[in-house]
Amino acid sequence: MDATVKNRVVPIADAQRSAPSARPTRDEAEAAVRTLIAWAGDDPSREGLVETPARVVRAYEEFYAGYSDDPEAYLERTFGEVAAYDDMVIVRNIPFASHCEHHMVPFMGRAHLAYFPTDSVVGLSKLGRVVDVFAKRLQTQERMTSQILGAVDEHLKPRGTAVMLEAEHLCMTIRGVYKTGASTVTTQFSGVFRDDPAEQARFLSLVRAAG
Ligand SMILES: [Zn+2]
Repeated sequence: MDATVKNRVVPIADAQRSAPSARPTRDEAEAAVRTLIAWAGDDPSREGLVETPARVVRAYEEFYAGYSDDPEAYLERTFGEVAAYDDMVIVRNIPFASHCEHHMVPFMGRAHLAYFPTDSVVGLSKLGRVVDVFAKRLQTQERMTSQILGAVDEHLKPRGTAVMLEAEHLCMTIRGVYKTGASTVTTQFSGVFRDDPAEQARFLSLVRAAG
């Protein structure tokens, strides 16, 4: 049985091996999924699994859409008519789902984001899109936190930015230490949020406020 399963698994082309940075073809990606199914111990040719590699590859196009997306696309269009508003803009509870780069297992949770506008603001939904640009890649929560902060800083040039991510990592709950319900919190601050503990505290209390 092992032999027949192995024979159906198409190895990645030699050309691909010598050029690891080139993107594999869809067929090669599907063959790789068949290999993983066989590695898991199942038969990739049985009826219920025949279409699975194609589905997995399509799902990957969604999970990892962030590689072909740029935060600038969402942050370049700003609105200047904010009148005298110069206090923080905070968007809480932006849901996200990402994949840890160590196990390629999901981690998901919520992002909270605040910035002090200078003379323009960005559409609020765009901040959620920026979170997705970085979530839809292989990630660590720490890097994702700093990438979101960096994109807001770079494109909106605010007086300060605050980002908090709270997430549950399935690599901790369905494997390894099996700590269901453990959540990981990361924060990063720039500008006035970094320099003024009172603004940091205000951000944290607004994140925690009911509603
Ligand atoms: Zn992991």
